[in-house]
Amino acid sequence: MTADDPITGLLDLYCRELKVPGLRAGYAAIARDATSQGQSYPAFLAACLASEIASRREHRLTTRLAQARFPVAKAIETFDFAAMPQLSPTLIRRLAEGTFIRERENVILLGNPGTGKTHLATGIGGGCIQAGYRVRFIAAVTLAQELLAAQQEYRLPRYLKSWQPIDLVILDELGYLGLGPGGPLLFQFCAERYERGSILITTNLDFARWVEVFTDATLTSALLDRLTHHAHIVLFQGDSFRFKESKQHSQEVKQPPDAHP
Ligand code: ADP
Ligand code: MG
Repeated sequence: MTADDPITGLLDLYCRELKVPGLRAGYAAIARDATSQGQSYPAFLAACLASEIASRREHRLTTRLAQARFPVAKAIETFDFAAMPQLSPTLIRRLAEGTFIRERENVILLGNPGTGKTHLATGIGGGCIQAGYRVRFIAAVTLAQELLAAQQEYRLPRYLKSWQPIDLVILDELGYLGLGPGGPLLFQFCAERYERGSILITTNLDFARWVEVFTDATLTSALLDRLTHHAHIVLFQGDSFRFKESKQHSQEVKQPPDAHP
């Protein structure tokens, strides 16, 4: 078949009209295979539809990964679980399947800086996207600032509404900075999501110290009550991975292989 073959022209036209780019890109090869393998018409049609489905799935995945705005894409596969022996790889992999989202549960990754919380939050988020969910990653301070700006510009309800289609909000680094007047707004954000959508929070602060971020004690305990009601709380204990790596590296440099201790 050539490009000016009337059938090819028609197929192109129909595929555009029906908005089936995967089928348009794939049908020629599928037709060749069908002919060489002597496939039935229904088998050929099934292969055509499968090609469109695969193309849509891939397109959706790419779009949703971009929409998630992960700072860097880190996978669970590149996480060294041996460095964090108290962490359950099974639990992390299960979270990455996204079933907690279906149950409207939350996840809190709590521990010292550098222990891999953001790495695994991103990995879990990526897994949830693969499982078909909409995910959005945002630093807690950024969200607080955006909420505050929306309030000042009288568009808070609209801004809050824009988050409704997101199945999982990853709120990164709660606690490094106080949130000032953004604190109560972040509370409102979390309260609105309660039992409607999931939140994953990474934080270096024990719950007892969350009041330093939100300043108001009543509000903080109300927030913790909601967040932890249906929550997987994962503790990251130990030293910073970066610190451990650089310490190991400097020891290697200081002690050449033939050095005697
Ligand atoms: P946190 O969010 O807890 O402060 P990060 O996830 O930002 O820590 O981790 C800091 C850096 O160390 C990142 O580059 C991360 O990929 C890496 N890292 C931390 N823990 C591990 C680990 N167990 N295996 C592999 N890389 C790790
Ligand atoms: Mg982090």
